[in-house]
Amino acid sequence: MDELERIDGAWKTRFRRSLLRWYDRHGRDLPWRAAADPYRVWISEIMLQQTTVAAVKPYFERFVDRFPTVHALAEASEEDVLRLWEGLGYYSRARNLAKAAKRIVTDFNGRFPEDVESLRTLPGIGRYTAGAIVSFAFDRPAPIVEANTLRLYARLLGYDGDPRGTAGQRVLWAFAEQVLPKARPGRFNQALIDLGATVCTPKDPNCEACPAKGSCLAFANGTQDSIPRLAKRAKITRLLMAAVVVRNNGRVLVRQYADGERWAGLWDFARVDLGVDDKPQDPPPASVVKDVQSRIAALTGLNIEVSPSFVVLEHSVTRYRIRLLAFEGTTLEQTVSASVNSRWVEASSLDELPLSVTARQIAKRLL
Ligand code: SF4
Repeated sequence: MDELERIDGAWKTRFRRSLLRWYDRHGRDLPWRAAADPYRVWISEIMLQQTTVAAVKPYFERFVDRFPTVHALAEASEEDVLRLWEGLGYYSRARNLAKAAKRIVTDFNGRFPEDVESLRTLPGIGRYTAGAIVSFAFDRPAPIVEANTLRLYARLLGYDGDPRGTAGQRVLWAFAEQVLPKARPGRFNQALIDLGATVCTPKDPNCEACPAKGSCLAFANGTQDSIPRLAKRAKITRLLMAAVVVRNNGRVLVRQYADGERWAGLWDFARVDLGVDDKPQDPPPASVVKDVQSRIAALTGLNIEVSPSFVVLEHSVTRYRIRLLAFEGTTLEQTVSASVNSRWVEASSLDELPLSVTARQIAKRLL
């Protein structure tokens, strides 16, 4: 790999020394770093996937407070785990945490494996997360590449190919392996992440303050704004959906998403997809109420009177921009279609159920 030719002994010594000196003064004080505990490292790393440090902190504190050990998590119901995860998104992460905790207890006697290969056999643990646990918690050498280090390495190497492609990944993982020192590799990996997160930022990296500027090819060539090459943006699709808070005798209807559905395990009000929303009409045509009524009836098997008024919630999920119309409805029937896992609940008990983010917003606005 030509990109790694200049990474010789002198380069590594200079880079490591300046990075660690910087880390001593500027390393972040994060709650999951307080103790080198593999459980806390694991929970934080899973939460940090697709989520910022600021957003993760309160979730992390609540989660480890409720489930302080892998044994406590292994005994928890998936519903309890999802309730604590509510709002963080990408819920398969929470379901995998619950499954992996059970495997650690049954297959590994409740002790975290200390090697990357064993950790990677657990649900939801990939190469990066395994490397993070092994190096941060056990201080064993294991390379890491995640969003912050991918950007940092690509710039240090002046790598202008696609860093997420097969060739790019090979170069960056090889770099991560070569640059890792034998002494205190966990601290070194944390320093790499912190430099990427706070100095070598996606926009306007602070090169003047960077301890690695003497080793950085992108800085030398003035290409730090074009490296790493950006991933192609997916085209946004607009969708229209409707949810109905169906009432019967003072209680409301909720349904649980089944395995294989996007929000598996979470609860929601009766919700239907109204298709692509290419030309949004504001307000939507009156015919939409009839359409919602018949689709909700098909979903639930109930005869429902849907009110003509509604509130509108807008949100994005991956490449979809969704306009959600939230209605209220009433029914005199109670027997819901057997194909839907449903319950009639008091509005006050919704607090105990893990709801989709928009279902929680609807509950706050309509109930
Ligand atoms: S010199 Fe600039 S581009 Fe290079 S590693 Fe430092 S912050 Fe990133």
